[in-house]
Amino acid sequence: MERNIQEVLLTEAQIKDRIAELGEILSAEYRDKNPIIIGVMKGVVVFYADMIRKIAVPCEMDFMWISSYEGTDSTGSVIVKRDVSAEIKGRHVLILEDIFDTGNSLSFVYDHLMAKEPASLKICTLLDKPSRRKPGVTLKADYVGFTIPNAFVVGYGLDYNEYYRNLPYVGILKPEAYT
Ligand code: 5GP
Ligand code: MG
Repeated sequence: MERNIQEVLLTEAQIKDRIAELGEILSAEYRDKNPIIIGVMKGVVVFYADMIRKIAVPCEMDFMWISSYEGTDSTGSVIVKRDVSAEIKGRHVLILEDIFDTGNSLSFVYDHLMAKEPASLKICTLLDKPSRRKPGVTLKADYVGFTIPNAFVVGYGLDYNEYYRNLPYVGILKPEAYT
């Protein structure tokens, strides 16, 4: 597995430190708001488990599972495989994501949850690749772990064909590992 990694982009220690910083910020933001924290499956699960333990205020956990399908026109449509189970109307909701890339998935999730009329809706993404954003996507993440260059990364929950999610760091995959 590790021999297919070209470069470690973010070490375990870097990720841990950044999550602790975000934890301070999110704990202050959500004090007395009893938020529902929604993870977008599956890529977020590792980040989610670490992040939630640094949010030191009462909160609820929930998950949504989506799938993206790239059409031939590459508009990229998204479907809900599993919706949230909590009633979010009137609640403060925080979305946790692994990576904000073209913005297709997050825009979809944001609109989908917004339609349920939460009291507030914010986004925290571990990774942001702004250079990949599709024109027309105006959505912004409220909290970003790391802004990264335009490279395909794996590990810490992120996969290539379902593998590498269990690497403890974020790494760039060697091009030859794609074939
Ligand atoms: P979007 O393009 O809609 O912003 O991101 C869609 C999904 O593509 C992300 O949630 C993530 O699962 C996947 N993705 C985007 N960039 C990368 C990447 O660099 N590595 C991996 N493993 N997945 C990515
Ligand atoms: Mg994802």
